[in-house]
Amino acid sequence: MKILEERILKEGKALSDSVLKVDSFINHQVDPMLMDEMGKDFAEHFKDRNITKVLTIESSGIAPALTTAAHLGVPMIILKKQTSKILSGDVYQTRITSFTKGTSYELTLYKSYISKEDNVLLIDDFLANGEAAMGGSRLIEEAGAHLAGIGILIEKSFQRGRKRLLDAGYDVYSLARIAKLAEGVVEFVDDIEE
Ligand code: 5GP
Repeated sequence: MKILEERILKEGKALSDSVLKVDSFINHQVDPMLMDEMGKDFAEHFKDRNITKVLTIESSGIAPALTTAAHLGVPMIILKKQTSKILSGDVYQTRITSFTKGTSYELTLYKSYISKEDNVLLIDDFLANGEAAMGGSRLIEEAGAHLAGIGILIEKSFQRGRKRLLDAGYDVYSLARIAKLAEGVVEFVDDIEE
């Protein structure tokens, strides 16, 4: 998506060969107009999949998931990051290790918000090793629902997440795909020979 790539080039900061900071428009300050454009793009891409719910992971997935859900006309569900297991039968939980922080948390979904009839679109801000998305998919499958697609704002294509998700049979659609990061350098997949 051209406007996202341009924004990354203008304001994104490659901190190393693996981490990109986009705090000025996605992760800390949020650009609502860009979020709306991205939501429209996801909704257009997945419009024929009979999506009944959009799921995301708190907190940076919420803004694009909300605009996507609004354009599709369906509810959005926020998967919560809990520090410990909830000992009740009301929730589905799965353990995730965070790429950026190196910490672990219990990704949590209340059973009352999902059912076997749901056809789910999962939205997140970044795809790195695929831990968060694979965790989301485990919860959706545990609920007996169907994961109809995964929408990502920024995919770091040089990390293993995309391959993991494709190997698991999921449809992955990313708005910006980064081929290479280095201090002060960002190259997109389309810029180079694939
Ligand atoms: P994964 O679970 O795919 O390994 O990592 C994805 C999650 O880690 C995303 O939800 C995002 O919050 C965070 N993340 C991974 N890489 C980056 C990055 O380069 N920049 C930022 N800002 N977040 C990242």
